[in-house]
Amino acid sequence: MTAPNLVVVGSVAYDSIKTPTQDEKDVLGGSATYFSIASSVLVPTGVVAVVGDDFKPQHRTLLESRNVNLDGLETATGETFRWGGVYDKHLKDRETLFTNLNVFADFQPKLPESYKNVPYVFLANIDPDLQNAVLQQCTAPKWVACDTMNFWIHGKRESLLRLLPKIDALFLNDSEAFDLTGYRSLPDAAQWIADHGTPISVIKKGEHGAIIFSKDDVYAAPALPLRNVIDPTGAGDTFAGGMVAAIARLDQVTPEALRMAASVGTCTASFCIQSFGPSALTQMNREGLNERLEMYKNLTRFPEMTL
Ligand code: AMP
Repeated sequence: MTAPNLVVVGSVAYDSIKTPTQDEKDVLGGSATYFSIASSVLVPTGVVAVVGDDFKPQHRTLLESRNVNLDGLETATGETFRWGGVYDKHLKDRETLFTNLNVFADFQPKLPESYKNVPYVFLANIDPDLQNAVLQQCTAPKWVACDTMNFWIHGKRESLLRLLPKIDALFLNDSEAFDLTGYRSLPDAAQWIADHGTPISVIKKGEHGAIIFSKDDVYAAPALPLRNVIDPTGAGDTFAGGMVAAIARLDQVTPEALRMAASVGTCTASFCIQSFGPSALTQMNREGLNERLEMYKNLTRFPEMTL
């Protein structure tokens, strides 16, 4: 398999998800799963993670069929990471019911030789100590982005703060940005993050899209308004997968590239929410993505008219 151009460390999980219409256990999930299925459509992607000996061969096959490089996926004795969440009746708010780290509790990531020179790195939502450990093993990282969530902002704040000067972009939800920084406005939160060492903040706002703050630009990327929303689980990781893969493909981080990449991330995420778990996302190809990008151009374009 081709050496990856992008490596992601994060969770590979079995999720228990309850929506107003469906309730399923042991659905394939995890931050690295959603991210890599999305990013592999654009660039060869390698995964660093651990699963338990209960991980089903069909799920490994599914990832491989999407060209995800699994050289960095370890199998350990024990159970795969499990997460459970329940959505409110409008599929907007989500409550975490449980987070069982299982094999992740003792995971010591070791990068395969073929991953070490990778230029683009994504530290998906997982223990910041594991994110740090993976980054240290990268010999020539060119651009590094990181995602996190409340579980780690509260549980591993010091480790997360140590990471900020070492990364180029931080992805997080608006409420997580407020929790991390103590501010109540997104520009203030982004400035706090920049002052703590990370120049780019990508703030996700669920169905309202994302705002990207960088030194020279602020870009608002609304979500694509779709009719058949089934399950938003993984949409944030999928958005990140599309966005970081687009940056890796463009091989530049200009304000224009960030705008293009955020639009790609948005269109990629629009596939994720159209099924329970990642199955709709696994159907995404370049052609389908290009169609959504055309829709997106139309959605966000307005004519300049003299008033
Ligand atoms: P998202 O909907 O983008 O926030 O991502 C949800 C995915 O993140 C699910 O598939 C979970 O398995 C995974 N996840 C939830 N909590 C954690 C956590 N604390 N650490 C790592 N991954 C998690």
